[in-house]
Amino acid sequence: MRMLVFDDDDAIGRLVVRVATASRMEAMAVSDADAFNQCLQTDPPQVVVLDLQLGGTDGVEQMRLLANQQYTGALVLISGYDARVLATAQSVGTSLGLKVECVLEKPLRVAELGEVFERLLFADQTLSTERLLTAIVDDELVLEFQPIVSREPKTLKKLEALVRWEHPVLGLIPPGRFLPAAESDTATIDALTDWVTGAAVDAYQVLAELGVTVPLAVNVSMLNLHDLTFPDRIGQRLRAGGMPAKHLCLEITEGGVFNDVARTMDILSRIRLKGMQLSIDDFGTGYSSLRMLRQMPFSEIKIDQSFVSDVTTSRDSRAIVKSIVGLAANMEMTCIAEGVETEETAKLLEELGVCNLQGYLIARPMPVEAVPAWLATWTGSTLDGQAMRPSGDPAAIRGHGEVRHPPSVSVTAETSGDVVQLSPRQLEVMQLLSEGCPVKVIAHRLNLGIGTVKVHLSLAYSALGAHNRIEAIRRAGPALAGNSNKA
Ligand code: C2E
Ligand code: MG
Ligand code: MG
Repeated sequence: MRMLVFDDDDAIGRLVVRVATASRMEAMAVSDADAFNQCLQTDPPQVVVLDLQLGGTDGVEQMRLLANQQYTGALVLISGYDARVLATAQSVGTSLGLKVECVLEKPLRVAELGEVFERLLFADQTLSTERLLTAIVDDELVLEFQPIVSREPKTLKKLEALVRWEHPVLGLIPPGRFLPAAESDTATIDALTDWVTGAAVDAYQVLAELGVTVPLAVNVSMLNLHDLTFPDRIGQRLRAGGMPAKHLCLEITEGGVFNDVARTMDILSRIRLKGMQLSIDDFGTGYSSLRMLRQMPFSEIKIDQSFVSDVTTSRDSRAIVKSIVGLAANMEMTCIAEGVETEETAKLLEELGVCNLQGYLIARPMPVEAVPAWLATWTGSTLDGQAMRPSGDPAAIRGHGEVRHPPSVSVTAETSGDVVQLSPRQLEVMQLLSEGCPVKVIAHRLNLGIGTVKVHLSLAYSALGAHNRIEAIRRAGPALAGNSNKA
């Protein structure tokens, strides 16, 4: 990892370089603005350590320079000023879009510096583009699903797929921490989006088998829109998984500038022509949301959380939400509010004409297997009751978010004696597993995606209360040898 230190005091520059070198970083120090600027151009560092008080210039001016040069690495600020000045400087850096890792007060403590550098190194190694590519290939990513609903009558409109990284050491990592690495390289963001689309199609199948047929939304980076074959790749995946194109919505966040408007329009138009839906995500936060809306064939607008969260308290946010609702209606687009956390917010949004809601008030993102139970609770039905319908309009969830009951198989768990329900597909997958088939072979034999097999297995494990395959096989016991009863 390369580090550049800018301090007009040579002794401090040397100290920082010494600590960084001890942490196996490649570091160099400069003491004037010209040298700093030159090093940034010729050998861009991944970490900049910047003193705030510099002879002839100052840290804030240099942060502006870093932001103008679109520096994306980490920034460590150091200064002899008091903590308040440091905190303000940190806010300036953050508002310029810089990644301010921390601010350190002088005199610098070697141990503290060492800890900061070790942390940066660890984050760099674990969340690097190369490591992320391995994670994609090794299936370390998982999807969670968050409902988008309307409440009058109670209807599940869609589930948004949100990616997470199940890191073997660091645990569950949210997308905000690894998307920058993914987006720094087109091959990686393409691989990520292909994985997410494939996993969403698998989840659609699993949900259908669990009796829930509902459209899904996946997030797509603007950076994916460089490749003219993108619509065909998704189309192929949908066909292979038997998912109707109209049940897939691609959410695109406007970020950065279109390098090639004609190419972007080509790709987005073909996505629509193939029957998929297109949503503009985080609407209102980009620099050219309106231009994008006019030029590109979107079918839906998602009002950004920042306007939603204070719609009850801010007149400005309320005015913005009202305008977006009008815009969506005039352009014949669906409108969704994201980040709805309170009943008061939901009610006001509904009064303003936003009927499609997404947010913690309705449900947090959840694993696919949790969706049927959530839907049953939310609509006020029971899992083992009659057809699950909302209490109001009996036809309300027909088509979208409809819940059917697949025939299930009762399995008496050998160890506990409990009777648990496994779907026929879960039983099939468990039977092959007990015969020693690896997941890839099971997928091949049953003509399913690997992700689908994994989901069936995890559903079966959780029904059996097992933590791993050995426990699950033991618990399912005789049923796997064919002693199951149709429920
Ligand atoms: P997004 O697409 O706008 O997704 C909504 C984010 O807001 C999600 O965060 C969700 O968990 C969170 N959220 C939902 N309801 C609430 C609420 O009521 N309050 C608050 N405070 N937050 C809420 P998450 O999962 O961390 O995702 C963050 C962003 O990462 C997403 O924003 C999306 O832009 C991106 N992302 C997620 N999955 C993918 C993916 O598969 N591919 C790409 N390219 N980007 C993704
Ligand atoms: Mg989204
Ligand atoms: Mg959003």
